[in-house]
Amino acid sequence: MSAPRIEVDLAAIEHNTRFLVLRLAKTGISVTGVTKATRGSPEVARAMLRGGVTGLADSRIENLERLRRAGVSVPLTLLRSPAPAEADRAVIAADASLVSDMTVVRALATAATAAGRTHGVVLMVELGDLREGVMPDEVLSCAREVAAHKGVILDGLGTNLACLNGVIPGAEQMGELSVLAGLVSTRLGLPGMRVSGGNSANLRWALGRRPAGAVNDLRVGESILLGLDPLTQQPVAGLRGDAFTLVGAVIESREKPAEPWGPSAARAAQVGSPGPAPRRRRGKRIQTIVALGRQDMVPEGLAPPAGVKVIGATSDHLVLETPTVLAAGTEMRFGVDYAALLRAMGSPFVAVLMIDSSRSAPAKPLEEGHVRTAPSVSVLQE
Ligand SMILES: *Cc1c(COP(=O)(O)O)cnc(C)c1O
Repeated sequence: MSAPRIEVDLAAIEHNTRFLVLRLAKTGISVTGVTKATRGSPEVARAMLRGGVTGLADSRIENLERLRRAGVSVPLTLLRSPAPAEADRAVIAADASLVSDMTVVRALATAATAAGRTHGVVLMVELGDLREGVMPDEVLSCAREVAAHKGVILDGLGTNLACLNGVIPGAEQMGELSVLAGLVSTRLGLPGMRVSGGNSANLRWALGRRPAGAVNDLRVGESILLGLDPLTQQPVAGLRGDAFTLVGAVIESREKPAEPWGPSAARAAQVGSPGPAPRRRRGKRIQTIVALGRQDMVPEGLAPPAGVKVIGATSDHLVLETPTVLAAGTEMRFGVDYAALLRAMGSPFVAVLMIDSSRSAPAKPLEEGHVRTAPSVSVLQE
C-alpha cells in the first residue's frame, strides 16, 4: 500500500484498553471507549471491546451510525449533545446521550417516543472547565425534569473537565459529582445510576487509587489511542505510544541554503511561528519534502524519526531537515499527537491501514530508520 497512510496497530489499542480496564476495575470504575479520533472506526472499536470496555462513545452521530452498520452491538453513547433537529437520528444511533439543555431533552423524548424507544440521558454537570453542563444547584431540578418525560430515562450524571480551560479533574470535583449523584439517586429513587467522571484527563486521579466515590465510569479516548496523559502529554506508565504511525513519501531531497533569501512576508508556514524571526544561520542543510500537508496532519504534532527535524508545512508539503539525502519515494514514518491524529483520520487523502502487531512481525520502534513495509492484515478506507 502506498503513502500517504496512517497505520493503526490494533494490538497496541487492545493492550492499552485492557491495562486501563483492569487498573480502573480496582476502584469500581468501568471504561467507555471513545472512538471519535478515529471517526468511529469499527476495527478500533473492536480492539477496545477485546480490551474490555463496557460500552463505546463518540461525539458524532455519523460515527455511531458507522459502528452500528458494522454490527457493533454494545451500548453506544453520544458524547456531544445532539441539536434538537438531530434528535430523530440520535435516538436510533445511540442508546444514550450526554445532555445539558432541557430543549434537547424534550426533543429526545419526542423522538424516542415516536420511534418506540427509550433513550438514556446522562445529565452533564458544570464543575469548572466551563464547557458543557448545568450548574450544580440546577442538577436536581433538571434531573426531575428528565425523569418526568416519557421516552427518556435519566441514565446518570456526568461531567467533563480539562478540555476547554484545562481545569484539572481531581478529588474535589469527583467528590462534588458523587454528592450530586447521591442526592439525585435518593430523591428520585434511582439506584445504580451511571456516574461518568470525565475523560482521559481523569486518569491521573483515577489511577492514583484514590477512592472513586460514586464515580463508576470514565470515557477514555486519547489515553487508549496514544498512551498519553492529555494534561502533560507525557506517556502513561504501562501504556503503548505506538498505536498510530503516519507514513508519507519523499518527493524531493537536496542540499539547500539554510536560510531563505529575497524579500519575505510572514513565515506563516514555519513550525513554531508566529514568533520572533529566527536567528540567521549560515550554511546549508539537507531539506527533504514529504508529500503530506496541513490538509493531512498538524506539523507541530508530528514525532519525526530520530535525527529528523520538522521545518514547516504548507497545505500539501511537509518540509524536513534530514541527516542525509533520501531517494524520492522513501517512506518516512511519524508518530502523531491528538491533533495530528484527528487531522490525519479526517483527511480524504490519507488511507487507513489496520495492522495487528501481535499477529505479524512486531512493529519496529519509530526511531529505527525510515523505511518499513507494513505487515498488513486489512486495508480500509470507507
Ligand atoms: C472527547 C470526549 C471524551 C474523551 O476524551 P479523551 O480526552 O479522548 O479521553 C470524553 N467525554 C466527552 C464529553 C468528550 O467530548
